[in-house]
Amino acid sequence: MTTKIDFQNVSRHFGAGSGSFLALDRLNLQIGDGEFVTVVGPSGCGKSTAMNIAAGLLKPSDGTVLVDGSPVDGPGPERGMIFQQYALFPWLTVRENVEFGLKIQKLTRRERREIAAHYMDLVGLSDFAEALPKMLSGGMKQRCAIARAYAVNPKILLMDEPFGALDALTRVTMQDQLLDTWGRERRTVMFITHDVDEAVYLANRVIVMAARPGRLKEIIPVDLPYPRTESIRLSPEFASIRNRVWHAVYHQEPAARVG
Ligand code: ADP
Ligand code: MG
Repeated sequence: MTTKIDFQNVSRHFGAGSGSFLALDRLNLQIGDGEFVTVVGPSGCGKSTAMNIAAGLLKPSDGTVLVDGSPVDGPGPERGMIFQQYALFPWLTVRENVEFGLKIQKLTRRERREIAAHYMDLVGLSDFAEALPKMLSGGMKQRCAIARAYAVNPKILLMDEPFGALDALTRVTMQDQLLDTWGRERRTVMFITHDVDEAVYLANRVIVMAARPGRLKEIIPVDLPYPRTESIRLSPEFASIRNRVWHAVYHQEPAARVG
């Protein structure tokens, strides 16, 4: 598998002098083309920092992230980002929000409409196409943000706890939809979650991080077939991988003192 995203010794600190704080310590991680990795770890272990660096929204203090072999230098259309906090344009309708990213592509108005309609349908928002974000619940706003990111069809999806605001049932539906589009369109996905079940259900590999300083702790392969189904979710093999991830996340040795 060729490497799509390559974290090479990536560190990031915040603040200066004695107040300087190491949020991410020498992350080395290769994500393959078409791979689905999930990232778990305690709050503050640098998950979002790592993802924001890959997205080009944050500069590393040290090291580089390569995408397709080229250093990241700002955001790009091949990398779609979905944040935990839905980032919608409040003055645009659901449909206009979903169409927004398509405007820079050479598509007719009609093609844009069709693509937007497809993704609004996928996330169950067709009936709210002309609604403004302020009329939507939190979960609906997040589904709108997801539809907008999917519509652009980026080769890489960077998702930072995207389903955290959704109720349990919607969440499972969104997981299955994401796996379905990923299976068909072979995107590369980096997906942060605090839900260990979700991490195992979705991934080829689970990246476990540790805090103080934020760092890679363990990479756990998920040798379960796709498509993932309810019977896989309920299988002893699933339980055993979930237990291993759980242990890696919650039974961490005292952090090594650094600097
Ligand atoms: P996670 O996503 O794993 O919860 P983050 O990557 O958001 O963790 O943050 C890692 C650490 O860096 C945290 O301690 C956080 O407070 C700190 N941090 C993140 N962003 C900033 C910032 N812009 N300024 C100062 N500290 C930050
Ligand atoms: Mg975070």
